[in-house]
Amino acid sequence: TAKQGGKNRYHLFDREQDRLCSVRGSNLARIGSALRNGELALYFQPKVNMRSGRILGAEALIRWHHPERGLLLPAAFLPDIEGSDLAIAVGNWVLRQALVHAAQWQAAGLNIPLSVNIAPRHLLDADFVATLQAGFAQYPQLAANCLELEILETAALEDIGRVTGVMRECQKLGVSFALDDFGTGYSSLTYLKALPAETLKIDQSFIRDILADPEDLAIVAGIINLSAAFNRRVVAEGVESAAHGLLLLELGCDNAQGYGIARPMPAEQLSAWIAAWTPHQEWRLGPGRQTQ
Ligand code: C2E
Ligand code: MG
Ligand code: MG
Ligand code: MG
Repeated sequence: TAKQGGKNRYHLFDREQDRLCSVRGSNLARIGSALRNGELALYFQPKVNMRSGRILGAEALIRWHHPERGLLLPAAFLPDIEGSDLAIAVGNWVLRQALVHAAQWQAAGLNIPLSVNIAPRHLLDADFVATLQAGFAQYPQLAANCLELEILETAALEDIGRVTGVMRECQKLGVSFALDDFGTGYSSLTYLKALPAETLKIDQSFIRDILADPEDLAIVAGIINLSAAFNRRVVAEGVESAAHGLLLLELGCDNAQGYGIARPMPAEQLSAWIAAWTPHQEWRLGPGRQTQ
């Protein structure tokens, strides 16, 4: 009968569930040891103003130098720790490492603001602001405006009041915020209005096809106009070519990040990249409005 079938399905489901749990459990333990063994690293991807050629900063992106599997991207391991205490330990490690690198660059005469991705649960952790404050206390030579935190608007899904409160406390320290992957969340306009983020990062899924897809172009133009109306800075992510950049300049978005500018790179390559970089020639000719 259907009922018996259902019962069997539950058994199968339970066993699958057990298997998934134990896989996740062993991944958790493995990622924990990667953290302790120094197998995690930060790569850095520059963000630039295409019109002026100014380097705005760099986004820190986590990598795992896995001894057997090679260099792993965050998609290969962050989902396994999402929602666990280990996610907070890894998040704190990322924040601390970002400050270490910023201080080293500053000591070498290079002031490069860093952006760090913060998982929603990390942002709402009771110790988040205190940990951040303790980090800055360790590097008194660093201006707090050297740090931007990238959060997803979905971070605010649970408690927009609390998220706003934490953001304001961080901003008192000099830290700024960007709404990452903007446009892909559930209720962009509500969060745009409520969250005190200085910057919107247009998601790369909208940027990819702007040269060919008039709907994506309309979405991107809309987000750029929205950011101007709300007095926010706007950055396009996933800018893969000079032509993408030129179109964005024409739409009024000067700030960009993407493979067409630079791929994420190990920390030790960043200062040489900054010294060598010049904007594409065609961007200098680009007409359009000036944006912040
Ligand atoms: P994100 O914050 O939106 O970062 C941008 C991602 O797009 C990065 O992937 C970057 O390498 C990639 N990207 C940059 N330019 C281009 C481009 O022109 N074309 C294409 N196709 N991709 C481009 P990555 O490093 O694999 O990171 C993926 C996501 O993992 C990040 O998306 C972020 O949500 C998360 N993540 C990365 N590092 C951390 C971290 O330290 N903590 C947390 N909580 N999340 C992180
Ligand atoms: Mg990001
Ligand atoms: Mg993004
Ligand atoms: Mg993303």
